[in-house]
Amino acid sequence: MNNKKITIAIDGFSSCGKSTMAKDLAKEIGYIYVDTGAMYRSVTLYALQHGMFGADNSIDTAALEKAMPQIKISFKLNAETGRPDTYLNGQLVEKDIRTMEVSSRVSPIAALPFVRKALVEQQQAMGKEKGIVMDGRDIGTVVFPDAELKVFVTASAEVRAQRRFEELKAKGMPADLQDILKNVQERDYIDSHREVSPLRKADDAVELDNSNMTIAEQKQWLRNIFEERTR
Ligand code: C5P
Repeated sequence: MNNKKITIAIDGFSSCGKSTMAKDLAKEIGYIYVDTGAMYRSVTLYALQHGMFGADNSIDTAALEKAMPQIKISFKLNAETGRPDTYLNGQLVEKDIRTMEVSSRVSPIAALPFVRKALVEQQQAMGKEKGIVMDGRDIGTVVFPDAELKVFVTASAEVRAQRRFEELKAKGMPADLQDILKNVQERDYIDSHREVSPLRKADDAVELDNSNMTIAEQKQWLRNIFEERTR
């Protein structure tokens, strides 16, 4: 393997398995892994905890914008799982940010320009030294437009909802397949139609439709591309 570290950007729709493959690749090749969805989810959790959503789900954007400098998101490696856990202002929130309550509110939060600006700056700082695998919606287009390897992952909404359903069930969290499918479709729509940094494939990204692939096959596919690019 070549020792020159590169930047790897993995984008795609909700629940398409990009985090799993990104995390595993980072671990295998000794790169830092950053789940940017966890950062948008943490801001959403903060807004929920501080009463910034109205009964009609409107957002108190003035209060959130004022609070942004106080929202500190960090990641710490969990020795047991070998994967990073998300912390919000020093509190472990890995499980709290994956609930349907957060999933159903995160896309409108992620569409706010001041939220994106703050988080993109932090993401770019994390990747300054390269040697990073970052996954999200705008990594190859906005955060690291010069990334040496860009992957865009897709799968049908039904397959993705089923995967998320099984993931939540396995964690002992409440899950309803129809609610999840509706949420996945809503997030797809908002994420690809927002004005700032909409979800789209970067022109130079390699596309992967993993609807009919196992996790092991996806991992191998990504590893092969990485080896090709760093040879
Ligand atoms: O990846 P995950 O499904 O956890 O992301 C949650 C939400 O965060 C997405 O639906 C999207 O609205 C937002 N997001 C984003 N840009 C990113 C990562 C996530 O807008 N880079």
